[in-house]
Amino acid sequence: MQNVKIPVTIDPIRAAAKKLDYEGIICKSDFSRLADMVDGIENDIEVRVSFYKDLSGLHVFEGTARTSVVMTCQRCLESMTISLDAKFKYSSDETLLKQLELEDEFDCAELNSFGEVHLYDIIEDELILSLPLVAKHPEEVCPAAGRIGTAGGDDIEQDEGNNPFRALGDLIKSKNN
Ligand SMILES: [Zn+2]
Repeated sequence: MQNVKIPVTIDPIRAAAKKLDYEGIICKSDFSRLADMVDGIENDIEVRVSFYKDLSGLHVFEGTARTSVVMTCQRCLESMTISLDAKFKYSSDETLLKQLELEDEFDCAELNSFGEVHLYDIIEDELILSLPLVAKHPEEVCPAAGRIGTAGGDDIEQDEGNNPFRALGDLIKSKNN
């Protein structure tokens, strides 16, 4: 492992031939698209990425990206910290991926005119995809969970035991027996 700055762009074919492994940090200020989608990025992004050629001849790069971000809980509107842990697995060999029918297992990375992938863009996309659709504290710790639950808010469908329609269904079933 080379504990160095993660390259912004890299030739994945050459990197796979050299079996390069990187472990390092991407400065959070480099991820402005992610920053726009959250209230703040707390830590620089810890990245591991490995390049290799697999047995079927695919040039692969895979790894993880970790950081934590601040988002607003949509239930109580307080700030909360969310850990992001994105795993990714890419190949730039689009034709071979299709031939081997491995498009579900790998994401396809586009090469630019220099034959390089934009690693920062890919990692930032992966972190954005790992964001929760709706940020919410777990119910046990959210100050507003109890209030909204008893007021007949959006939590009522989870309370199956007291669902009046379920009770009605049971009644109908017992009549038919
Ligand atoms: Zn909350």
